[in-house]
Amino acid sequence: MKIYLMYTIVNIRLFTFVKVKFDMDINSLLSQHQNFKNQTFESRYFSYDTVIYELFKLGTFFGLQEEGESVLGRKIYSLNFGKGTKRILAWSQMHGNETTTTKALFDFFNFISSNHKFTSLLIDQISFKIIPVLNPDGAQAYTRANANQVDLNRDSVHLTQPESKLLRKVFDAFSPDLCLNLHGQRSIFGIKESQKTSAMSFLSPSVNQERSVTAVRKKSMRLIHAINQDLQHHLPNQIGRYDDAYNINCIGDFIQTQGVPTLLFEAGHIDDYQREDTRKWVWYSYLSALNSFIKNAHETGEWEAYFEIPLHEKIYTDILFKNCKIGSKIMDIAIQYEEKLINNKIKFIPKVHKINNLEGCLGHKEMNLSSKQITINGEISSKIPQINEKWSSIKVDNEDILLEQG
Ligand SMILES: [Zn+2]
Repeated sequence: MKIYLMYTIVNIRLFTFVKVKFDMDINSLLSQHQNFKNQTFESRYFSYDTVIYELFKLGTFFGLQEEGESVLGRKIYSLNFGKGTKRILAWSQMHGNETTTTKALFDFFNFISSNHKFTSLLIDQISFKIIPVLNPDGAQAYTRANANQVDLNRDSVHLTQPESKLLRKVFDAFSPDLCLNLHGQRSIFGIKESQKTSAMSFLSPSVNQERSVTAVRKKSMRLIHAINQDLQHHLPNQIGRYDDAYNINCIGDFIQTQGVPTLLFEAGHIDDYQREDTRKWVWYSYLSALNSFIKNAHETGEWEAYFEIPLHEKIYTDILFKNCKIGSKIMDIAIQYEEKLINNKIKFIPKVHKINNLEGCLGHKEMNLSSKQITINGEISSKIPQINEKWSSIKVDNEDILLEQG
């Protein structure tokens, strides 16, 4: 009896230790992100050739497979690894200019290559199929659409494009239990209540016009709630919920309508235009989602808390100039960057977005010019600027104000 009791106590202690250690691992991993970071990707843009080069470097464990071709004949690849019964299909850069989730995927592949005990748990329980770039032509040209100027996230029913057909074929053949639809959002989104930028946003897509909360939606809602809980420790009030208006032509809505839980990830903005900070949080969100998934957190438990995540809103602009004097008028001017690929680098070109009536609008950078006369593009202008006018320089009291992001 005594021996049995001691055995039980030891076992309980061991179990508690393992459990606490396991939970700690997710958090302690955060400080180790740098160790898993694929250093090849360090800015907002990288060519598709770079992606292919990095894919081939990964090694045979990852089961690189050619899935088909894009409009311009670029090869589209998937990685196939893990031996678990739970099947996850993920794809990134369906929108070619949304690179952050792809960078975080390569960090995840490095993590999988490590000997961390969480990786063996993932590999034992999950079979992964991951398409790192679904839209290589858009990725190369840094455009949202594919080479035929079609938004692939509006082509899920009609399947007019080779990339959409490819994803459907892969989805049908692989028959996943969970899909991860990986995107990036513009710097305009924020959380109204906290006035913070939206660092990450998530969506459990609707499956009908009524936006009914069905059993399949509850599964993805539970997972998003779990990711949100993990992220809130580090990014309080900076996580948003994406609008759930139904559109069957959007891939997440289509797949979730087919009965497969699907999570939309949107990598957001944390005062870092290269999105290197966000990249870490995307990577952490992947680990959080997988950790909850292998614990079957999607099957039971709270889903209502999903709706407590605030909807993100378009409340941010890149630069906000308050009280500028132009001619005899005092005005507020919101500047927004247009992202342009020039010589393999993204240039953030400042453009006039809105003038006056800017209540509720926040700037990533805000300056009160205290009714001082400003010089725009080298001229003291007396004309009210035009919307979409490009600004290459602005001076106040003969001092240049930095407009561009490198
Ligand atoms: Zn997108």
